[in-house]
Amino acid sequence: MSAEENRITPRMVTMKFGGTSMGNHDTIAQVARIIVEHAAQGHRILTVVSAMNGVTDLLKQAARTASTGDDNEHIRIVNDLRVRHVETAEHLVVDDKIKKVLVEDIDTLLDSLNAMCHSIAVLREITPRGMDLIMSFGERFSARLLAAHLRDLGHAALAIDASEIIVTDDNFQDAAPFMDETQQRVNEFLLPYLHNGTFPIVTGYIGATRDGIITTLGRGASDYSAAILGACINTDDLWIYTDVDGIMTTDPRIVPTARVIPVLSYGEVGELAYFGAKVLHPKTVQPVIDKGAPVRVRNTFNPTHLGTLIQQQSEITQGAVKAVTIIRDVSLVSVEGRGMVGVPGIAGRTFMAVARVGVSVLLISQSSSEQSFCFIVPQSKTSTVLDGIKKEMRHELERGDVDRVWAREDVVIITTVGAGMRGTPGVAARVCGALSNRGINILVIAQGSSEYSISLVVRAEEANEAVRALHDLIAL
Ligand code: ADP
Ligand code: ASP
Ligand code: MG
Repeated sequence: MSAEENRITPRMVTMKFGGTSMGNHDTIAQVARIIVEHAAQGHRILTVVSAMNGVTDLLKQAARTASTGDDNEHIRIVNDLRVRHVETAEHLVVDDKIKKVLVEDIDTLLDSLNAMCHSIAVLREITPRGMDLIMSFGERFSARLLAAHLRDLGHAALAIDASEIIVTDDNFQDAAPFMDETQQRVNEFLLPYLHNGTFPIVTGYIGATRDGIITTLGRGASDYSAAILGACINTDDLWIYTDVDGIMTTDPRIVPTARVIPVLSYGEVGELAYFGAKVLHPKTVQPVIDKGAPVRVRNTFNPTHLGTLIQQQSEITQGAVKAVTIIRDVSLVSVEGRGMVGVPGIAGRTFMAVARVGVSVLLISQSSSEQSFCFIVPQSKTSTVLDGIKKEMRHELERGDVDRVWAREDVVIITTVGAGMRGTPGVAARVCGALSNRGINILVIAQGSSEYSISLVVRAEEANEAVRALHDLIAL
């Protein structure tokens, strides 16, 4: 325990453990040690867990293959899941009674998972609603494993399915919480356990509609679940435990010398996560901003490291750039035409057409000549977006007001993030200079609407080189 933690003694701490932290019996035992050690300091701990790493992907694959009529692949996947979870249970739980209940519980869940996949195979169809139901299983297994292990160690602990607590809309795969109703459920079903000394172990990632239909909050959203629940219990601290020491200056897999950033503001983190830093789900800080609760990103495997503190205020650093992020697999869509000059509404109608086909635009840039504008969409949606725009603009295309609607698929967005970047003269010039010095061509430059970022679009083959060049701008 660090000196800072000894000084500050929060009453309520919300801890979220990610997929690698829940990855096997050794790591789950480590998670339990962290919970118990902090509880022994007098804190009340609310725990939110992800599925064991890789499990959510396997569940998706089971549903996908079943939807093609394949009734075998899901059986193989469910068997693998049974072996992994039951083996983990064997290691984590000594007491026979606790083990028996746990394994029966997991088996019942696995049987219903198989039955659901079989129905999908018969119907040869998977809806977003069905997909959410299938993909919700991973967290239900992992929460039970951790709770049983804590009970085996002699603590009061209870696995709770967030579908009983987080009330959401029915936007399956990306559901949004209704905070007032969730607050009521938290008061009723969660706070009593925190007050009576039980460790509640809540599933991340999932919720349910008012009618009780299971939803998921989006891939990687266990962070967000922890923030939603943390806000509802008025948590003093929210700690997101992962497999690196904190939020780093860039993805350590691209730049091995990336360093942990000690302090970031909510705004900076929002931008960083939105523009691709996978370490935190983009919506994580939203629920806690109003409460002003500090968030820390910490390492399960290096628990004395204080990680990255995320708070209201930003710290302006020398050089202004604090982090570099990347989003791959995107396309640059361009709408061009000399006849567009001064014609009102073309951009508006284009974006309406994109919205109509259900695609969100990640970044927009307009050239000052008004003869073209371009924007970024996910690569998988390129042809849907082009078709939608061409349909909307068919008269302009016939008349020649719009010459061309086209897309480049081999691009990435690289973003430099840091408070005060736009207030510091010459940052954009330094950012562009760093790339041109290495002969990297910038296809688009866009300053975010916030104060915190500048984004550049470059060719995918130059992506890693561009990240390294921009990372060199970060002051030591
Ligand atoms: P968890 O399962 O704990 O939620 P994730 O895999 O979602 O973990 O996020 C942690 C991973 O994010 C790290 O292992 C790292 O590879 C990756 N990552 C990408 N960008 C960053 C960054 N800027 N700082 C830290 N980690 C990053
Ligand atoms: N298990 C979910 C996923 O893989 C949620 C999470 O890990 O945060 O997306
Ligand atoms: Mg994550």
